[in-house]
Amino acid sequence: MVDLRGQYQKIKSEIDKAVIDVIESGAFINGPAVKSFQKNLENYLNVKHVIPCANGTDALQIALMALDLKPGDEVIVPAFTYVATAEVIALLRLTPVMVDVDPRTFNTTAELVEPAITGKTKAIVPVHLFGQTADMEPIVNLAEKHGIKIVEDNAQAIGAVYSLENGDKKSAGTIGDIGTTSFYPAKNLGAYGDAGAIFTESDDLAEKMRQIANHGQTETYYHDRVGVNSRLDSIQAAILDIKLKYLDDYAVARNRSAAAYEAAFEGIDGIAAPKRAANSTHVFHQYTVRVKNDKRDALKQFLNENGVPASIFYPLPLYRQKAFAHFSPAGFELPATEQLCREVLSLPVHTEQTGSEIEQIASTVSRFFDRI
Ligand SMILES: *Cc1c(COP(=O)(O)O)cnc(C)c1O
Repeated sequence: MVDLRGQYQKIKSEIDKAVIDVIESGAFINGPAVKSFQKNLENYLNVKHVIPCANGTDALQIALMALDLKPGDEVIVPAFTYVATAEVIALLRLTPVMVDVDPRTFNTTAELVEPAITGKTKAIVPVHLFGQTADMEPIVNLAEKHGIKIVEDNAQAIGAVYSLENGDKKSAGTIGDIGTTSFYPAKNLGAYGDAGAIFTESDDLAEKMRQIANHGQTETYYHDRVGVNSRLDSIQAAILDIKLKYLDDYAVARNRSAAAYEAAFEGIDGIAAPKRAANSTHVFHQYTVRVKNDKRDALKQFLNENGVPASIFYPLPLYRQKAFAHFSPAGFELPATEQLCREVLSLPVHTEQTGSEIEQIASTVSRFFDRI
């Protein structure tokens, strides 16, 4: 699905030098490389505070911990997302309330969130799934009206840009109160191991989250709150600092692949190509089609048999996962989430992909539909 080795080969000398520099410096934790990456990412995103941490799941957990919620408080989350988004809610003894998504963009909307708001709702965690942002402005307005905080799960859309009604532009993850991301290797800005970060404009929240990520520590060996140990390694920071310079080029490459797929699938009735959101650029973390008429599993098998990797993100709605089923009433179903779990198929999209690779994948897809 990705070609991390090919990507590394192109920047090998820069990366190797940066890694060796960290090793020779001996500053493995919180070294200058971490500070440098933090500053460069703040500039790139145009956000006041970046708080680096150990992974994207921790980033979500630390963000929610900073909101000082009580057990039983409700947090609204789309049912069509990676498990981490809901997992941290449950871990903190909060109640995940699952809402549906728009089947064309895969993201939730203010219209879908609004009916789920109750007197206990304290936060919304919109997910910018597959590389484009949810339509955030109506969600922000809704949250303000109800005094609810927003934590954007931006693990999949770093570098995407959202346009507000007045023409202002904001980076994905900097639109709500807090944004979180993951630098898992296969993410758009991938480290060579686990890594993550949190973004906010708020000085208060930033200070709190820095403390939480560092054992709740205010000064050395003084701990004002219960925290966690969630640090970004200096080696990962040095690697990310280099890769950040290429992030926009990587998005261009991913968009080139997406455009080629889009053109190739135009004449295939059995496939619905992903729809671009009106107010967001797309960084195509995944290129995810919908396969109609219950042919998804057969197409996936055909592709795999013909040497084309293809994956299902995600096969099961969160409310059907055994670990989360008890949060929803018996028989709970969200129609678009159900449909997507039956229809979605993600095809390879990455920074090193060539036109002929896409052609070969597209022609394998078309052969499948010619046969049936
Ligand atoms: C990858 C991902 C996460 C978790 O990030 P990790 O770094 O793997 O902990 C959370 N949410 C979404 C939507 C993701 O894709």
